[in-house]
Amino acid sequence: MTRNQSPNDKVAIVTGASRGIGAETAKLLAREGYSVCVNYLNNDAAAQQVEREITEAGGHCITVKADVSSSVEVARLFATVDEELGTVSVLVNNAGILMQQCQLEEISEERFLHVLHTNVMSCFLCCKEAVKRMSTCHGGTGGAIVNVSSGASKSGSPNEYVDYAASKGAIDSLTRGLALEVAAEGIRVNAVRPGLIYTNMHAAGGEPDRVNRLASKIPLQRGGEAIEVAEAILWLASEKASFVTGSFIDPAGGL
Ligand code: NAP
Repeated sequence: MTRNQSPNDKVAIVTGASRGIGAETAKLLAREGYSVCVNYLNNDAAAQQVEREITEAGGHCITVKADVSSSVEVARLFATVDEELGTVSVLVNNAGILMQQCQLEEISEERFLHVLHTNVMSCFLCCKEAVKRMSTCHGGTGGAIVNVSSGASKSGSPNEYVDYAASKGAIDSLTRGLALEVAAEGIRVNAVRPGLIYTNMHAAGGEPDRVNRLASKIPLQRGGEAIEVAEAILWLASEKASFVTGSFIDPAGGL
């Protein structure tokens, strides 16, 4: 057992956990007894706030600042978790970005690559590191991976961010393919596809109030809260979903 390893071997990594859906997921996992790695990119204060809330509630976590679209930083992230928490048993690939709303013809090649690289490469790199540790073929004891896709993978996000939607389509395919590859190696791989959720992400698209504008178009007649997505992620990560792999849950109010 490595230093600080939790006695029940429940170790979770949540990427992009300083804010929004990732933060709520990290707090829920900690409440369920996981030692949690709160990963983030820039926002030290927000990550420290999540750490404080987890610790004050009696949970155990570390924060690791790392750009998960970089293979070098992902390797450092997983090595830190190995050392400080123990072998990862749950990975939540949540980190993601979108950019200013516009039509495809206005999207630069540089922006397209940046969005795809951040949203897809991060998921690919973290899945690789997790499989190396979880797979029974590599001496691991299995685990669960939950990818955070989006309803955008189905809608295509026309006139808003087709690049973002395409990145989420790639995550859906990666989820299905990896799930089938590692099903016999003790690893379950699933995804959530949230709809319109109240987080600060929409401000990055230039419309902080986007969820309220579109709320009446949602069959349940309201936007979703980050905690409602986190609950779905927690269920997919848990033993309660022991016969579920390659599947998707859409916390989207019926959209
Ligand atoms: P958010 O509030 O904007 O938070 C994004 C998080 O990702 C932050 O913690 C940010 O860290 C982190 N991050 C961004 N780039 C990163 C990188 N390269 N490496 C590490 N961390 C990085 O977003 P959210 O709304 O909670 O969204 C979370 C996930 O849900 C995303 O994948 C998003 O596509 C998906 N989603 C959201 C909605 C929605 O309506 N909100 C709907 C469908 C799907 P810093 O704080 O350090 O910047």
